[in-house]
Amino acid sequence: MLQKSDPRNDTIKIYIDGQIVPRENAKVSVFDSVVQGGDAVWEGLRVYNGRVFGLQEHLDRLFDSAHIMRFTGIPARENVRAAIRKTLETNDMHDGVHIRLTLTRGKKITSGMDPRLNQAGCCLIVLAEHKPPVYPESISLRTSSIRRNSPMSVDSKIHHNNLINNILAKIEANDAGADAGLMLDKDGFVSEANGVNVFVIRRGEVRTPYADYCLPGITRAKVLALCAEHNIPCREARISVSEFYVADEVFTTGTMGELTRVHAVDGRDIINKHEISVLDSVKTIFREATEREGVRIEDL
Ligand code: PMP
Repeated sequence: MLQKSDPRNDTIKIYIDGQIVPRENAKVSVFDSVVQGGDAVWEGLRVYNGRVFGLQEHLDRLFDSAHIMRFTGIPARENVRAAIRKTLETNDMHDGVHIRLTLTRGKKITSGMDPRLNQAGCCLIVLAEHKPPVYPESISLRTSSIRRNSPMSVDSKIHHNNLINNILAKIEANDAGADAGLMLDKDGFVSEANGVNVFVIRRGEVRTPYADYCLPGITRAKVLALCAEHNIPCREARISVSEFYVADEVFTTGTMGELTRVHAVDGRDIINKHEISVLDSVKTIFREATEREGVRIEDL
């Protein structure tokens, strides 16, 4: 699965460091921390029908990540909201939109690793694109040899731009002809796929790995909450790859692709031994939530 460019995005305008500019002029300095060390934090958000879905949760995670990274000169929450509003209004975007929100540690006075070289404050980027959910109806996964980071190295709770770990897993998946790499923790239990969280359903129960090694995804949290609300058995658990092979249904969650069915893991077809699909029900209640929830663009 390879995303295609959308001609509607050829003329979009992008918010960068306080200015709205055409995409060809939206550039960061070579002295910016994101260029020098992947030293930035980010969020992916979606706009449904004039509303930004999960705004509070995404901004909370962005500010938490920036605080953990000890950024200085972090913009106020209302300024980030205003930047998102300005970007969406300038581009006349209301629906089927994905926003890549990036906050870098900002420009350095000279190249180097030391954050004390960053004396200009953070750089905020709001990149909004026309982008309906990117995954096809179903995808395949391939277990990766690359382990997901643990709190022993870089804590997966930080949503940072240093994505090399995940990119290496994606390369392996590409080489194996799979859509995404399934990443394990240091003990061999599943943590997540390279850019999405993962769930299994077996005998009517929905399970997802603890967020020890995976990003605690906003969509993942939403699915857990919606299942609880609708009395669908659902819990966090340690789950092995074998349990994925024999699950009735497997799915991934993420802002980019929403909820996506997995039809095969490591060449094993995922076979539903039950007549009903719990995933179809979860997808329906998630879609309903996207239709009614979210912060209206004019209220940003
Ligand atoms: N895992 C990883 C590694 C990700 O990069 C993402 C997307 N940001 C997710 C999971 C899904 O998270 P969310 O539901 O918050 O989009």
